[in-house]
Amino acid sequence: MDATTKRECLACGKILHGRADKKYCNDYCRNAYNNGLKSASSNFVRNVNNVLLKNRRILETILGDEEMQKIAKDKLLHQGFQFKYLTHTYTNKKGNVYTFCYEYGYLPLEHDWFLIVKRDGKQ
Ligand SMILES: [Zn+2]
Repeated sequence: MDATTKRECLACGKILHGRADKKYCNDYCRNAYNNGLKSASSNFVRNVNNVLLKNRRILETILGDEEMQKIAKDKLLHQGFQFKYLTHTYTNKKGNVYTFCYEYGYLPLEHDWFLIVKRDGKQ
């Protein structure tokens, strides 16, 4: 590689001088870049948490003060429920698998209906 090839600092984009393997102007830019990577991964965590919290809120709203409530799948989807995001599952003695977003869960029923339930803190 041509030693005069212009390279740019990964953090600030300034032209770098000096060793060919240099990636940053200085420690400040190195730290800024690494912190940026960290915030990208924390953005991912935040986005997933937001989806989970939204799922939880949807289930909470549907359930209201009831112990259980039935709802059609298309209504859940219409409210923005995302089935691929969940916190855990619970299998009862009958072998029914409930899917949970925090303390609110659902059990698939026939014909694309779901039974919404709430657990009382205990797992
Ligand atoms: Zn820089």
